[in-house]
Amino acid sequence: MEKLNELKQRLATISDLTAASSVLIWDQSTYMPLGGAAARGRQLSTLARLAHEHATDPALGRLLDDLQSYAESLPYDDDDASLLRIARREFERATRVPAGLVAAFSEHSARSYSAWTIARPANDFAAVRPHLEQTLELSRQLADCFPGYDHIADPLIDLNDYGMRAASVRALFAELRQELVPLVRAITAQPSADDSCLLQHYPAPAQIAFAEQVIRDYGYDFERGRQDIAPHPFMIRFALDDIRITTRVKVDDLSEALFSTLHESGHAMYEQGIAATHEATPLASGTSAGVHESQSRLWENQIGRSQVFWQHYYPQLQEVFPQQLGAVSLESFYRAVNKVQPSLIRTDADEVTYNLHVMIRFDLELALLEGTLAVADLPEAWRARYTSDLGVTPPDDRDGVLQDVHWFSGMIGGVFQGYTIGNLLSAQFFAAAQQALPQIGVEIASGRFATLRGWLREHIYCHGSKYTAAELITRATGGPLTIAPYMAYLREKYGKLYAL
Ligand code: ZN
Repeated sequence: MEKLNELKQRLATISDLTAASSVLIWDQSTYMPLGGAAARGRQLSTLARLAHEHATDPALGRLLDDLQSYAESLPYDDDDASLLRIARREFERATRVPAGLVAAFSEHSARSYSAWTIARPANDFAAVRPHLEQTLELSRQLADCFPGYDHIADPLIDLNDYGMRAASVRALFAELRQELVPLVRAITAQPSADDSCLLQHYPAPAQIAFAEQVIRDYGYDFERGRQDIAPHPFMIRFALDDIRITTRVKVDDLSEALFSTLHESGHAMYEQGIAATHEATPLASGTSAGVHESQSRLWENQIGRSQVFWQHYYPQLQEVFPQQLGAVSLESFYRAVNKVQPSLIRTDADEVTYNLHVMIRFDLELALLEGTLAVADLPEAWRARYTSDLGVTPPDDRDGVLQDVHWFSGMIGGVFQGYTIGNLLSAQFFAAAQQALPQIGVEIASGRFATLRGWLREHIYCHGSKYTAAELITRATGGPLTIAPYMAYLREKYGKLYAL
């Protein structure tokens, strides 16, 4: 027990250093004056170095070794056994990556991100090209810290979606593409939905107040979190009792703040729902990028873009914005928030075409990592894929290859697959919850979410990282990740909307 306590203290120190970084990152993204940037970069890199030192301390490895027989004496899903299992996985990962590479990556990412914030508005791919070449080189070096892979992207995918591989994601995406492409064709052959009711003037404070009322009803706990404004919406954890979110507002587009708030609240409720006993341990976070995204997509789309949801909330929204929406019917509004249209920007994409955006990025980053595509040829490859896959051609790189922050602030590879896995899982989890508790639909129609939230807390939230994504999905839904519930959801919903 003494050794277990010492281990927990060491893990808490790592968790505290990471949380301190998170506070600095949150501040950097919300209130920090521009002048603070250089010092903030240095402070974050100091904290990252300290956290890495603690995470790779040989004394931590010895404690894990000493506790191995204790771990083996316990049932697999015992909290201590799970803690020891996940702590060992993280220790082995951390010790494989040299401190020099961690520092080089973090310093390079800061420079690359700064260059991107200038290059994107200037439509200047040439300015970020050398940065991106360096990112690719560092991403390969990171992958090579984990030898024995089949595909060089495997270790990078594994860091975010443990257990997935390039080959398994490729197979999943191929299956999904085969079903999605004909559905997109059938929808776009129909008359387009009219979303002009969303594109009127909506004062920002009223938008935020409405969205915050909805997430309060959802169950996001403002006593253990808060929402602020930032250029890019995100969720961030300081502690299980302090899980924050941000949003952004467009005064001429009602959907921006509303759906980003619903989205981030889903990420946040996942973390607010983790069992308090996991606090300050490696179990105190969502289990994978895909499962995390499934929780944001569930509350944003499965609930927030559903007909039953708007039956309840639309009259309230009309009361807030009588001039803009007083004469717009519920049916017209519901069609507007579910408009399907192939477009250039992933983050603005509808539910049906969204995954095609993800597949383009996934394929391109595999080609970059394999060395079959050069960074210099990336903008043209991007244009070619948008033209062939979505039927739209970016007029410039700003709305093409420069649009996403990911490749300019982190690694190339291992991130984008999580978005589509999340979409698929949002439908799979929601279908399982509804099957177990059929009253959920009726409750949503009256703005009540406690039954659904209770199911999610019991089957997903409370476990944190205790189970892998694959284990969690099977335990919660009775089977492995599959595209079937997602495709059934899209066919049912959009079949009605577009009279297919
Ligand atoms: Zn998300």
